[in-house]
Amino acid sequence: MSFENLGLHEPILRAVKAEGYETPTPIQLQAIPEVMRGRDLIGCAQTGTGKTAAFALPTLHRMTTVADGAAPPHTEPRPTHRVIRTLILSPTRELAAQIGESFATYGRYTRLKHTVIYGGVSQVPQVRALRSGVDTLIATPGRLIDLMGQRCVQLNHVEILILDEADRMLDMGFIDPLRRIVSQVPKQRQTLMFSATMPDEIRRLASEWLRDPARIEVRPTAAAADLVQQSVFHIEPKQKPLLLLDYLQNTASSRTLVFSRTKHGADKIVKHLVREGIPAAAIHGNKSQNNRQRVLQQFKSTRPPVLVATDVASRGLDIDEISHVINYDLPLDAETYVHRIGRTGRAGATGEAISFCGRDERSLLNSIERFIRRSIRVAQPREELRAALVAARQTSPPSSAKPAAGGRPKAAAQGSSVTAEGARRKFWKSKPRRHEKGSTAPTGGEKTGGKRPPRPGKSKRYFSKSKG
Ligand code: AMP
Repeated sequence: MSFENLGLHEPILRAVKAEGYETPTPIQLQAIPEVMRGRDLIGCAQTGTGKTAAFALPTLHRMTTVADGAAPPHTEPRPTHRVIRTLILSPTRELAAQIGESFATYGRYTRLKHTVIYGGVSQVPQVRALRSGVDTLIATPGRLIDLMGQRCVQLNHVEILILDEADRMLDMGFIDPLRRIVSQVPKQRQTLMFSATMPDEIRRLASEWLRDPARIEVRPTAAAADLVQQSVFHIEPKQKPLLLLDYLQNTASSRTLVFSRTKHGADKIVKHLVREGIPAAAIHGNKSQNNRQRVLQQFKSTRPPVLVATDVASRGLDIDEISHVINYDLPLDAETYVHRIGRTGRAGATGEAISFCGRDERSLLNSIERFIRRSIRVAQPREELRAALVAARQTSPPSSAKPAAGGRPKAAAQGSSVTAEGARRKFWKSKPRRHEKGSTAPTGGEKTGGKRPPRPGKSKRYFSKSKG
């Protein structure tokens, strides 16, 4: 089945072709015909499956159809000036911005206009864009409520309402703003709701807000299992900084995303990497919007720093060609693991997901393995590093090995034990920096034990030995 067979309007097909898409992804195949028909829809799918195009393409199609003369679904006559006809709600600024980019891309040959509004930045340009008139508004709930309160937004002509990452919006405490917003949208409308998970609360809201919806589901586990090569290092928590450094310096990667459970942890990892000469940047909720956007641009460039992110910040990031995802901390729930590793292996590419599992995280690993219904391959650090780790362990004070409240030991993130630091210094002094930014993802299967670090582009495998 091709995009042409779906019957999308020519300007939209042209944009899809210009993007280089050849065949619709499974979620697009299921969703596009239903949405084109005007049906409500509830989709269980995560970012990375082609979800945005699954709702953006048929939405643009419908808006161009109705613009050509057919009556809108509700009875109120549409005024002659531009009004908001599609409202898309997103939990995060990044996701909202990405949806905006998708509408710009897929709608570039139509005359439809859109704008994106979110908090953390000045509202002035947003209000100006709204005043000049848009057909599609993409918004985070908080800023939308603000601007509704200031009477800068009218939702009484909305024909299509889309709630993206609905579960995340609930997690982030947006239920009241959501209820207020939905109450301002005409009842006669088409509603699409996407959610990576389907907890009871989402089902309840769906039954309240959607009418006889088509139900589609794209299981994230399939993508995780098929496209991403997963492995786990069992490592003492305080040795994670050493392992991360060693891994990054000995693995050719094009783009690496490291996950930290906490914002503070993310900052510590970045500091540690930068001190060791590896360009790195953090992205999390404490960073200003401008800072986040700058870091994202750097990460999308051909010389990306290692990006260290928390889960909330990373959700919905649409960045292709992430070759490696590293779980520096294991996530507290198994589904988050699937979301994380889904950052790599996107749109058919293969990727690698590496997890560092401390002693205190074994039960988390077990629940991840149960959830994805497979055991994750166990990897061993390179021989050279193992010797350094043993040396560090033998000389480090036993108290520092004790996990602190919240998971990791106090000394963990920085390798701050003097002896461990000494071992690390000795270990690294003689080695050149090998982290190659912008190199292409490796394809070989070479092992990398021994003295000489691998040549970028040659070494796919970092591990000296693995089992499982
Ligand atoms: P999404 O799930 O919407 O974040 O999309 C994930 C990535 O897949 C984006 O970078 C899209 O540009 C890309 N994509 C979406 N649909 C297709 C398609 N049919 N063929 C190839 N790539 C696609």
